[in-house]
Amino acid sequence: MYLSLVVPCFNEEHGLQRFHDALVAALSERVRDYEVILVDDGSTDRTLREARRLAAANPRFRYVSLSRNFGKEPAMLCGLRHALGDRVALLDADLQHPPELLRRMLPLLDSGYDQVVACRTRSGERRWRSLPARAYYRAARRFTGVRIPDGAGDFRVLSRRAVEAVLSLPEHHRFSKGLFAWIGFDTAYVSFRDAPRRFGRSKWTFGALVDHGLDGLTSFNAKPLRVSLYLGALLACAAGAWIARATAKAIVDGSRMSVCGALLVGVGGLQLCFLGVLGEYSGRSYFEAKRRPHYLVKELSPDVAGYRPRPV
Ligand code: UDP
Ligand code: MG
Repeated sequence: MYLSLVVPCFNEEHGLQRFHDALVAALSERVRDYEVILVDDGSTDRTLREARRLAAANPRFRYVSLSRNFGKEPAMLCGLRHALGDRVALLDADLQHPPELLRRMLPLLDSGYDQVVACRTRSGERRWRSLPARAYYRAARRFTGVRIPDGAGDFRVLSRRAVEAVLSLPEHHRFSKGLFAWIGFDTAYVSFRDAPRRFGRSKWTFGALVDHGLDGLTSFNAKPLRVSLYLGALLACAAGAWIARATAKAIVDGSRMSVCGALLVGVGGLQLCFLGVLGEYSGRSYFEAKRRPHYLVKELSPDVAGYRPRPV
């Protein structure tokens, strides 16, 4: 059984050699047939040069370089499209996804599962980061109906049919964790303690995390729209009743209710918020309607060059 390892890399020049060594050591005796696809996501450092060097030195290593930084999601999609294996593993280049764990994951996949997902225990994580993350996953489960276990990231091994299923989902705004959960199939989980990044820097800013989180909440159904509709209707009724009462009071005893103004401002604010939710969805359809490619390829390692990935 041939294994493809897909590794998105953005500005990882300092760690690629270490990643290579760790991966080769972890797989050497157990897995013979494998290829590694490094997807250089438009790095601005010497990541591409490192990828070229590794591909020249080790025939198992191939690379695809994107024309600019498209983000981890498009980079993973690109890697999945290029992967030739019967089994495909996704892992980060910064060794936060320990390659040794593959030794536990691969036998599970071979025993019949279509996905084996590595869940991190968040043991070393700061509370200010783990608490909102936990709350988010709980909300996402409720809201989207798609079961994303807490700590489940992109580190996983997929069977060929699971890969094909993910590739059959053409959406532009991709939230892979959700897509992997959405396709279903039998899934096994293994947990691991994640180590802090040993080199380079995390590419996630607070804003990027919030954006990604919103992608997750709005990619799977239109519940936020429905909720805003209900809330809006409720508030409109409340405001109507309040205004009727204020008018009646004004007619009877000439009094003015200042609260009324405050309420109107409140309702106005909420309406803006709902408009934002609407905008989020229409913006999404706008991007989907354009049907732009998810990424553009700048360079392929020589043996990948003759191979054309299937269009999604
Ligand atoms: N990455 C990428 N494109 C990006 C950002 C990140 O390909 O725009 C890669 C990065 O090189 C790494 C993986 O995605 O291999 C995870 O990124 P990072 O370590 O920054 O995320 P974190 O571990 O902090 O969630
Ligand atoms: Mg990382």
